[in-house]
Amino acid sequence: MALQRPATLTDAFLERLVACVPSTSGGAWKLTEVYTGDLLVELPQSTPDDVAAAYAEARAVQEEWAARPVKDRLAVFKRAHSLFIDNAHTTTDLIQAESGKNRRMAIEETCDPVMVMSHYLKRAPRLLKPVKRGGPVPVVSSSTEIRVPKGVVAIIAPWNFPFATGISDAIPALMAGNGIVLKPDNKTALSPLYGVQMLEEAGLPRGLFQVVCGEGPDVGPALVDHADYVMFTGSTATGRVIGERAGRNLIGCCLELGGKNPMIVLPDADLEETVQGALFGAFGNTGQICMHIERMYLPASRYAEFRDRFVAATEALSLGASYDFGPDVGSLVSPDHKDRVQSHVEDAVAKGATVLTGGRARPDLGPAFFEPTILEGVTKDMLAGVTETFGPVVALHSYSTVDEAVALANDTDYGLNASVWGGDVAAACGVARRIESGNVNVNDILAAAFASKGTPSGGMKQSGVGARHGDQGLLKYTDVQNLAVLKKQVMGARPGQDYEKYVKGMLSGLKLMRRTRIR
Ligand code: NAD
Repeated sequence: MALQRPATLTDAFLERLVACVPSTSGGAWKLTEVYTGDLLVELPQSTPDDVAAAYAEARAVQEEWAARPVKDRLAVFKRAHSLFIDNAHTTTDLIQAESGKNRRMAIEETCDPVMVMSHYLKRAPRLLKPVKRGGPVPVVSSSTEIRVPKGVVAIIAPWNFPFATGISDAIPALMAGNGIVLKPDNKTALSPLYGVQMLEEAGLPRGLFQVVCGEGPDVGPALVDHADYVMFTGSTATGRVIGERAGRNLIGCCLELGGKNPMIVLPDADLEETVQGALFGAFGNTGQICMHIERMYLPASRYAEFRDRFVAATEALSLGASYDFGPDVGSLVSPDHKDRVQSHVEDAVAKGATVLTGGRARPDLGPAFFEPTILEGVTKDMLAGVTETFGPVVALHSYSTVDEAVALANDTDYGLNASVWGGDVAAACGVARRIESGNVNVNDILAAAFASKGTPSGGMKQSGVGARHGDQGLLKYTDVQNLAVLKKQVMGARPGQDYEKYVKGMLSGLKLMRRTRIR
């Protein structure tokens, strides 16, 4: 039976969504439904001049937005929180159509901006409040830390979580008083455009949140050159390009990049739970989660037992193109990406790896389906051994000591996420602490860390610079103004005062303030 597109996705609805993307060139990109390859809508393509105009428009609105009391700005997000939840199924339809992921994952993605809003609705008032601190001289001096929005922030988002990365990272920036120019990936521009529409419905001033579309190299330079700060999520290779340009412009940037994430199973791990975790870690979002698992390290003593159960559980997964909650695993994002994933498997096999299950494209299900794949015998001379595959492909390795497992887990240029499974939680945490990774989940794959919105989440090593979530996830979108007041000119020698005497007094004053802990 032919796949039925959700009734929400009418041509009129999709055309309305893309109508706000500026395009003076008249060029358009064919945005297709991943499951079928059919055209969904022609996406206007912005030129560098369109990008400049989008910044100008956002800037014109941003000044008034920043001048509003924090409470008034936050009121918009209180309304948006409900709107996002009420419209979660429409958002899910859009995410599925443009990315091909299964519905279970798509609806979870819709919850991310909601959780981010909820966290910062509680936290932002305190973070944005001026903080009075002591000045250098007690009583007569003071210094106040004032948070000033950066201005207009560029957000550059990837296709794997288009709604979450496009909208969630904008929320704290907007709360802090900034405007936004977002560039989503062409393939997945619809759900973020819908997110902006919902924010405007909740009361966000029109024009404050701009969306421009285009291929990265075409619009990227203009995006960075007009920005006051750049929030980038994507590959390490592109992150380097963005970081370099931001550096040249002397603006800040946060780079959330790729990973080659390890999972260590300790000898006392609960096998049932670990296998369930491994299924999600390797194949959740069809293996296209930056924090997903591509390398599993198993104790030699339990290797065969884990491998056999994991292979059997993987073979029981259902794959399919469907807008209901049925399939366990959905499609990859595009035929091109499917080819890339396939090339990693073929390269591994050609160099001696074994496919335990999967390893094939599934054109019978759709143009970009690829089977969940488990490999054995992967080495570092293989693409799948060192670079991010970003697909449903995982390699199993055995280890004999925990030290060896930790060394193998750390043997990578990346450091985004890791997962450690063990019965003795304290011991597992001890192992987790030894892993060079910005996120480490004990007895979970990634959700425990990523959904903890109060804690900063970012990459170590080549996986990134800076973090999202936590206090720094909002404060990074602000500059600090240090407003200092001296009520009386007491710092420095008085006119005519003997300088030796003045210095003596100053030095003993420093000692006194240290002793009395005044400063
Ligand atoms: P990508 O780097 O190719 O593209 C990401 C975004 O950057 C897209 O919007 C793209 O159009 C744009 N872009 C590309 N070249 C550009 C340029 N020169 N200037 C400006 N923008 C440019 O990455 P991708 O393939 O879309 O996404 C997958 C990657 O993203 C994976 O490596 C994954 O691990 C990573 N990722 C990381 C996180 C995280 O939080 N660390 C989250 C999601 C995805």
